[in-house]
Amino acid sequence: MAASAAAPRIVIENCSIATVDADDTEYASGHIVVAGNRIESVGPGRAPENLENVVRRVDGTGHLATPGLVNTHHHFYQWITRGLATDHNLFDWLVALYPTWARIDEQMAYSAAQGSLAMMARGGVTTAMDHHYVFPKGSGDLSGAIIRAASEMGVRFTLARGSMDRSEKDGGLPPDFAVETLEGALAATEETIDAHHDASFDAMTQIAVAPCSPFSVSTELLKQGAELARRKGVRLHTHGSETVEEEKFCHELFGMGPTDYFESTGWLGEDVWMAHCVHMNDSDIEAFARTKTGVAHCPSSNARLAAGIARVPDMLKAGVPVGLGVDGTASNESGELHTELRNALLVNRLNPVHREAALNARQALRLGTYGGARVLGRASQIGSLEPGKLADLVLWKLDTLAHASIADPVAALVLGAAAPVTLSLVGGEPVVENGRLLRADEDAIARSTRDEAQRLARIAAQA
Ligand SMILES: [Zn+2]
Repeated sequence: MAASAAAPRIVIENCSIATVDADDTEYASGHIVVAGNRIESVGPGRAPENLENVVRRVDGTGHLATPGLVNTHHHFYQWITRGLATDHNLFDWLVALYPTWARIDEQMAYSAAQGSLAMMARGGVTTAMDHHYVFPKGSGDLSGAIIRAASEMGVRFTLARGSMDRSEKDGGLPPDFAVETLEGALAATEETIDAHHDASFDAMTQIAVAPCSPFSVSTELLKQGAELARRKGVRLHTHGSETVEEEKFCHELFGMGPTDYFESTGWLGEDVWMAHCVHMNDSDIEAFARTKTGVAHCPSSNARLAAGIARVPDMLKAGVPVGLGVDGTASNESGELHTELRNALLVNRLNPVHREAALNARQALRLGTYGGARVLGRASQIGSLEPGKLADLVLWKLDTLAHASIADPVAALVLGAAAPVTLSLVGGEPVVENGRLLRADEDAIARSTRDEAQRLARIAAQA
């Protein structure tokens, strides 16, 4: 449905523009016209004259406009367990943190979601996601609280309704009290889809089915979770091939590596995206490419947990859809996606196989925008600046000390310091102006998240 002639228009002019369209079209100085919640036009020079119903004109001099950033993997609740187990690998870190995580309640989940969302929105994220898989008994409506926080912040949102049903007594990693039953997890996931999933073009909330990982869920939960997602027409998300320990676990328990195990449970396909995918051999990458299974690349978290370097250049070459994720902030305390553009480029160049040919700045920007939209199943709606798409865009300020002398604006954004956001729009609605959130009080969120982190630590210490 095109915007009608009467839709209010926002005109942005005089900025550099990286559209991230299929041809990587860029303008050294161009314009964007937003009509209602859609992009009406993008092009070089000034906007067409005599546009009707212009409610706002933005002078973008000194700025770069890009599509809004799309985060494809996160765990919001971890915002209140940052800075713990800082010298651990994945399995030791999980075992250290599960007992604390299993004490979260609705107020903590809401507050942590606000913190995670505020940090990302302030840094240019217009589509967020949360993979939430900790649902302690009697903890209230955690999914509802998280969705409410995203809706209040004004960002587009995918809640990946996670679950765990393989605890220590079944050879899994989480403690017995931290998991749901198979039936309970499936029923609650279906309820969440029915209550909140919106399949429309301009949806603000979508739900995915997201059992946590091979070492915390049963084979049956993976199989029935995939059937549920396909029956409901929603996407599937999980963690995969994150560490050598996970690979060993899969071989010991299932007699095969993670990718073969996922394929045997119905978990490869163009409606699936997986976080990490660090330990992939050539045939694993070929299987992802053949099935168009997506990847959420999380370079900072992979480095923090010493997991390794995902083979992103090989995945892209093979045609695997790849987006970027911050991962939970218990393994990436910064929680900002724009810094992941830089880290994706730098970390992949450290892989001795690829070196300087690994990724360039434009590929990094594409991972964080169009690539993310693709793995979330929303590439026709967001992820690039093109007429007819939703008006999710960011105006990055590049004319101050940090960036003014960098020759190329895309290199400035990707390789330079984290650039401030002068304006971000989600569906044509402003969410950030001049570096500040418009719909949330950052200082109040800082206080409430500190209080909730302390309350959780006290409860966990008493348990
Ligand atoms: Zn994760």
